[in-house]
Amino acid sequence: MKEERYQMAYYPELLLNELGTNEEMDNSRNPLPVSLQRKTLKLPTLPESEIVRHYTHLSQMNYGIDTGIYPLGSCTMKYNPKISEEIANWDVVTQVHPYQDDTTIQGSLQIMFELEKLLCVITGMDAFTLQPAAGAHGELLGMLIAQAYHKENGERRDEVIISDSAHGTNPASAKMAGYTVIEIPSHEGVVDLDALRSVLSSKTAAFMLTNPNTLGIFEKDILEISSEVKKAGALLYYDGANMNAIMGKARPGDMGFDIVHLNLHKTFAAPHGGGGPGAGPVGVRKDFKKFLPIPRIRRDKKYFFSYAHPKSLGKISQFYGNFPVLLKAYIYIIMNGGDGLTKITERAVHNANYMLDRLKNSSYLIPFGKKRMHEFVASAINLKREKGIRALDIAKRLMDYGFHAPTIYFPLIVNEALMIEPTETETKKSLDDYIDALIKISKEEPSIVKTAPHHTSFQRIDEVEATKNAIHNWKEIARLSVSK
Ligand SMILES: *Cc1c(COP(=O)(O)O)cnc(C)c1O
Repeated sequence: MKEERYQMAYYPELLLNELGTNEEMDNSRNPLPVSLQRKTLKLPTLPESEIVRHYTHLSQMNYGIDTGIYPLGSCTMKYNPKISEEIANWDVVTQVHPYQDDTTIQGSLQIMFELEKLLCVITGMDAFTLQPAAGAHGELLGMLIAQAYHKENGERRDEVIISDSAHGTNPASAKMAGYTVIEIPSHEGVVDLDALRSVLSSKTAAFMLTNPNTLGIFEKDILEISSEVKKAGALLYYDGANMNAIMGKARPGDMGFDIVHLNLHKTFAAPHGGGGPGAGPVGVRKDFKKFLPIPRIRRDKKYFFSYAHPKSLGKISQFYGNFPVLLKAYIYIIMNGGDGLTKITERAVHNANYMLDRLKNSSYLIPFGKKRMHEFVASAINLKREKGIRALDIAKRLMDYGFHAPTIYFPLIVNEALMIEPTETETKKSLDDYIDALIKISKEEPSIVKTAPHHTSFQRIDEVEATKNAIHNWKEIARLSVSK
């Protein structure tokens, strides 16, 4: 089995600063005025071959979506087509400046204009802004739009309702916008309508929901939820980070949602992780369009930026959004087309349910035994009780088999949760291998599982220490190695 074959590389790799010689800056061709030049910026100087080896070594000590399956629940870590990278590196993309005149960037404007329209079609909303740089950023904008809307109606509503299965960014964004967060318990893995009714009031600004929720369960009462929320005069906010659960099958606009955000760096195949740039466009119904950030992109024979929107909230980020990310999403949508996007959803859902089915008769517990959409949550509670093996141990041990761990301990409503989202880009073999490993681990000696990983470049790390005393840059590492 894979474990015996798998061995992650290890190199005693030095930092670039330690590898290269630090040469003084050569200012002979520096176009800056002398007063702005510095002589002491120490940048390591290395031959190209050494740099390539350095980064290749690091990549071999790491794990990414190009290494293997990465079923991190709620993160949609799918394979990202390389053609998008190639196009995003064309000069027409990389050599434009945000202060350039509209007339010189017609192509870029057209792409953004059309992307907004495509996202409207996919979600059933009336207008989109592409500015927010992440899902959480979109949520914050959504909450600010809700605020502007109620204020315009002369209402003071300072509560936002969130389900206990919500992604952690939801309450954080609502709070950041100044709202009091009211959490409601779910029932059998879905929104408890009675609990929702009991907290809805004239103080409710919005109810934030994702459908399917983070357990991968579709909220079948969504139309009733929607009408209850509307009756209370509140707005319904849709967290659409993982749209590959319903794309081409159902639309938040048709379910009654007023404001939605999407994660282009999940559903629409722009790479993410490691803090790289993302995009969290926000879509709204007609009534809220006027609040969207400026500039808006318009067309009147030519495309242009339009700033004359007095009710606009202004800017939510510098300039117009993360253009390369927007471009990659646009390419992905165009390449797949409507039918392609629908197939993506079907495959994502099919893959998740295939894995869930294979896990059903194992030591893992599948709470709320219904069908799932794009992801599912398993529990290691039986293994913990019987053998003392926790979800964390299983996540570590999976690495010995050459797999990335699922999301663990989330959502909080499931004990010893393993949240698995295979995405549509995995083959049946890779799904089978993953499940085989999970089942094998459940039968292994606890002493092996609890001390894993054994075949990775680094073994078990002290996560509490790492969190409390995070080392953020090489200067701190250098200081530590001096003090040793
Ligand atoms: C990833 C995710 C978010 C947050 O998106 P970021 O881009 O990481 O800020 C919000 N909600 C759900 C359901 C998510 O999966």
